[in-house]
Amino acid sequence: MDPETSAHADRAGDEEEPLFSNLDLFLFSLIVGLVVYWFMSRKKPEPIPEFKKLDTPAPTTRETSFIEKMKKTGKNIIVFYGSQTGTGEEFANRLAKDAQRYGMKGMAADPEEYTMGELSRLSEIENSLAIFCMATYGEGDPTDNAQDFYDWLQENDDEDLSGLNFTVFALGNKTYEHYNAMGKYVDKRLEELGAKRIFDLGLGDDDGNLEEDFISWREQFWPAVCEHFGVEASGDESSIRQYELKVHTDLNMNKVFTGEIGRLKSFEVQKPPFDSKNPFLAPVSVNRRLNKAGDRHLMHLELDITGSKIRYESGDHVAVFPTNDSSLVNKLGEILGVDLDVVISLNNLDEESNKKHPFPCPTTYRTALTHYLDITNPPRTNVLYELAQYASDPKEQENMRKMASSSPEGKSLYQSWVLDSCRNILAILEDMPSLRPPVDHLCELLPRLQARYYSIASSSKVHPNSIHICAVVVEYTTKTGRLNKGVATNWLKNKLVNGHKSTVPMFIRKSQFRLPFKASNPVIMVGPGTGIAPFMGFVQERGWLKQQGKEVGETVMFFGCRHRNEDYLYQEELEEAEKNGVLTQLNVAFSRDQEHKVYVQHLLKKNKEHLWKLIHSDNAHIYICGDARNMAKDVQAAFYEIAEEVGGMTRPQATDYVKKLMTKGRYSQDVWS
Ligand code: NAP
Repeated sequence: MDPETSAHADRAGDEEEPLFSNLDLFLFSLIVGLVVYWFMSRKKPEPIPEFKKLDTPAPTTRETSFIEKMKKTGKNIIVFYGSQTGTGEEFANRLAKDAQRYGMKGMAADPEEYTMGELSRLSEIENSLAIFCMATYGEGDPTDNAQDFYDWLQENDDEDLSGLNFTVFALGNKTYEHYNAMGKYVDKRLEELGAKRIFDLGLGDDDGNLEEDFISWREQFWPAVCEHFGVEASGDESSIRQYELKVHTDLNMNKVFTGEIGRLKSFEVQKPPFDSKNPFLAPVSVNRRLNKAGDRHLMHLELDITGSKIRYESGDHVAVFPTNDSSLVNKLGEILGVDLDVVISLNNLDEESNKKHPFPCPTTYRTALTHYLDITNPPRTNVLYELAQYASDPKEQENMRKMASSSPEGKSLYQSWVLDSCRNILAILEDMPSLRPPVDHLCELLPRLQARYYSIASSSKVHPNSIHICAVVVEYTTKTGRLNKGVATNWLKNKLVNGHKSTVPMFIRKSQFRLPFKASNPVIMVGPGTGIAPFMGFVQERGWLKQQGKEVGETVMFFGCRHRNEDYLYQEELEEAEKNGVLTQLNVAFSRDQEHKVYVQHLLKKNKEHLWKLIHSDNAHIYICGDARNMAKDVQAAFYEIAEEVGGMTRPQATDYVKKLMTKGRYSQDVWS
């Protein structure tokens, strides 16, 4: 209806009848009255609730001044750690705990959490000492948590650290080119800035026996500290608990951690940004076996990151948080005779500590042993030392103490009985029937289960919503006849596509392993076995660049495997890339298809003239991925030989040449041991 006509008709009706009847007026007043009453009653102020004291303390701002904290808590030793896989942090905790035996008070500290510029003020505290447990990561890099400290050390030439007493223990691995680079740098730099080294740099080699290196260093370090400060060991070797057990009987299960790494319920309500403290739960969209035959299981997985806002580049690493095998967890529960579903908290006895619990609490023993604790690596000697008190058989107790001691006999027993025999905590409990520690103390002592890193096997240009992983399932029989299974690879292998619990908590770690900025630069990739992973991303990316009409330089691949018909990983994709010209050369070394071994380095040598031209004249970038112990070294030696044979260099000139390529970012390695 036209609004004009309608208004007109209403007005016409008004003229014919009286405006309101008495009844209308009565009803009108009643309605108005009710409406007013309703409004008034709605606006009544609500009763002020009584504030109850909450159980959880109100969040406080984090103390970033370690000096203030040390003064407040009477500490005089601070142990900073640069740690990527948790070992540096473990060593720092052990040293901080040791201090009590010498009448001192120590605290472990993450350099990322404190203002490191305060180091010059440490002299305000009497008899003070800073210890640095610094791990080296990747190709001589600092760990993520020590990156800012490293930058600070580099940038501050005018810093006066003359009042600072320090020592450094470095954690590294000799199979890597830049062995213990970070520890060595911190040691040298602190001295340059005027700090006083009170004990020599310790070098720990994870390729040998890191634990033994640490114990030997520590054994001499503490007497040196005593001498320096004029203190004496108390002789008290008793075990000191750091956490106190609280059993919860009536806690709402919504408040109990079920495997989250950071925030409670973060796996139910996922909020970006995702990182190591807030991993994304990525569904597994593909999980297939790559090898056509053989006993091993080489696998290709795809993690769906749709909607996560996660970005990655070819060459980055994906970190996944695995869970322990439930049968191992159950066996631990059985052997210790405990109900694994009890809800507990382990609360730090040092209320000032930044670390309130050893893992997210409250939680159940089952969750702790499944998600938070490392139950598969051989325990370190401090764990054996602390657990020894629970062995009722004197012989077993003696052996445990011996293994934890620094005597040559003890070290060799630990090496053979624990390390060489790959005994994890369950195997130790099985083989020492009188050893039955309380589960809460065991949970306090075991190290945290760490995220595992894999080189991403895809390019985000081609797969912006998925991340590919290529890995081999680790499984081996130990000297004691036990079948040991790699935690993460076995857990990944069993991830069903679209099945129940088929998600993987993950985050991205950026790397320096990058394709050349200019696509026209040639690329030489060497990656036998699962070392092929990042190169699948590189090949995809070079193909994509070509499709975009970019000028793409030569792309040469050297892959190696055991048999053509068994473990030629990604054969179809690689051959297809060669056919369409993305790979200008595909060289595959089948090591076991003939009498003599043929490895990637043999094929490199076969192509020496061409490779030398690409490297020396065309600015090629070289990439190596895979085994660090043998392959990466042999391949590097092959490049030396090429420089000698084709480039006419002497060996020192050749090594220098390759070193220079490394500094220029033209010889990059992504290797593991
Ligand atoms: P793989 O299948 O064992 O080996 C790939 C190819 O490399 C085989 O043809 C092998 O030949 C050959 N090869 C052996 N020694 C070599 C050398 N010195 N130089 C060049 N090629 C050599 O490879 P994978 O199972 O993928 O593992 C690769 C390496 O990385 C292994 O050493 C493994 O321990 C290590 N890895 C470590 C991790 C980790 O997270 N720490 C994960 C995966 C792999 P033959 O076997 O016939 O001698």
